[in-house]
Amino acid sequence: MNYIEESTRRIPVMAEPDVLVVGGGPAGIGAAVAAARNGAKVLLLERYGFVGGNLTVAMVNPMFTFHDVNGNQVIRGVAGEVVDRLVKKTVSPGHVTDLTFDNASMSPFDPEGMKLVLFEMLKEAGVELMLHTTFSDAYAEEGRIVGVIVESKSGRQAIRAKTVIDCSADADVAARIGAPFVKGRESDGAMQPVTLFYRVAGVDMGRLKAWMKANRHLLKDSPTDEEIDSQSALAFLGMKEIIQAAVERGEYPKDAAPRILMYELPREGQFAVNCTRLQGIDGTNVLDLTRAEIETRHQAWAVTEFMKRHIGGFEDAYVLDTGVQVGIRETRHIVGDYTMTEEDVLNSRAFEDGIACGTFAIDIHPPEGEQQVFTGSGKAVYEIPYRSLLPQGVDNLLVAGRCISATHNAFGSVRVMATAMGIGQGAGTAAALAVRQGLKTRKVPVAEVRRLLIEQGQYLLDAEGVKERRDAGLRLTKIDGSGNTASHHNPFARKSGS
Ligand SMILES: Cc1cc2nc3c(=O)[nH]c(=O)nc-3n(C[C@H](O)[C@H](O)[C@H](O)COP(=O)(O)OP(=O)(O)OC[C@H]3O[C@@H](n4cnc5c(N)ncnc54)[C@H](O)[C@@H]3O)c2cc1C
Repeated sequence: MNYIEESTRRIPVMAEPDVLVVGGGPAGIGAAVAAARNGAKVLLLERYGFVGGNLTVAMVNPMFTFHDVNGNQVIRGVAGEVVDRLVKKTVSPGHVTDLTFDNASMSPFDPEGMKLVLFEMLKEAGVELMLHTTFSDAYAEEGRIVGVIVESKSGRQAIRAKTVIDCSADADVAARIGAPFVKGRESDGAMQPVTLFYRVAGVDMGRLKAWMKANRHLLKDSPTDEEIDSQSALAFLGMKEIIQAAVERGEYPKDAAPRILMYELPREGQFAVNCTRLQGIDGTNVLDLTRAEIETRHQAWAVTEFMKRHIGGFEDAYVLDTGVQVGIRETRHIVGDYTMTEEDVLNSRAFEDGIACGTFAIDIHPPEGEQQVFTGSGKAVYEIPYRSLLPQGVDNLLVAGRCISATHNAFGSVRVMATAMGIGQGAGTAAALAVRQGLKTRKVPVAEVRRLLIEQGQYLLDAEGVKERRDAGLRLTKIDGSGNTASHHNPFARKSGS
């Protein structure tokens, strides 16, 4: 190997916040807002020119999942507030029934509206922002992070913070200081595939609805006329058989996901498309990332051509834009004081140190092969324990978002954006308490964190409630995404008595 020696440098310290949040995705937003609302001086670093992470950067849509099967909203707090504000700005229909994967709800939104709402919330909470700033390194001494190094157009700068929250999604901070982590599946390290989300515009909704009614056998669960007409945001999953034949004819990219999955956005005739796919990509390897950006963009155009040819209403549709970067589903998971398991999720487990709830299904896009593994959601409502946010060997670092300590299967549920924001809120609240009381992160009184979270609008389980929700029938099952007839959970329809 060929090397260049770097000389030691003196790096100017440009900020000394109480709490430094690295990464402005759903977890980082939850963490920064909560820490600031609880009295900490907070600095949030983000490598792009706006915040939101996958909500905006990767253009992932909709937010999953705020409700259990009975329609109870189990993720509230900062994440719930985000949706309420989006609705007020008329850039989201709010929570609607999910016609794709049987989640009780989904919450679609306009990504530009999201950028604005998140900036407003950070400002109101008093969070200081540094955009266009990439975390590059950290130094730890005796189990404490003593300095964080960032790079930007202003050069290389240092930050000293009392507590750091790693919301980089890839556990960049934890990895840099040498905290233990694993990647992907336990058996072989394989990770979920990447997908470039993109928006199509120019869809004729009237023609699309007519086509869906005439071709419902091609769609998952064959949605009824009423479901198609009454949804304030349509979701579309299916066409597996037609795609198989199209792949054979060379009319559909062979590496893309072998079904059409897309979600209507609040702007007339726009959909967020979740169809491109590339397996075998490591989102922490820059050459893999480069290949993925190029290949998935070619796929996006080819998938759109397929849609124009085969789906009514799409005749004049076009690629409006693609995510700023390809969406990375899975990379590092820290090894924390507790590693969440599939059983915790499926048994609706509550924890004494639970700091957020999750209720999304276990959704595993296959690292190889075709079959998506999906366990019906809304049935399990579980808690995420604070210990899963604590990387081993360091006492002033918390990790929030998709890279917390969880097995590959548990991660399949924990990873979604509403849950990530809830975890962030838990981390931010705990970090503020650690600073206020001068405590190591491991010593934070979690009962006090839970009390603050509930006081500030978050929802947590209690042991009594959990027993009722436990569903012994939940097991990892495979679904194929074509038109079977399982019924949808529709808590909203039931509520209105229909
Ligand atoms: C293709 C795809 C489809 C998905 N579908 C859905 C869906 O339909 N609904 C849903 O709810 N969830 C979905 N998910 C899951 C969800 O988007 C993520 O798991 C979730 O966004 C994780 O939140 P996070 O805050 O941990 O990370 P991210 O959203 O990835 O945010 C991390 C932030 O940190 C910043 N960052 C990273 N590294 C650095 C650094 N070194 N320096 C500075 N900043 C940095 C990033 O720019 C980003 O803003 C999907 C994910 C993918 C990839």
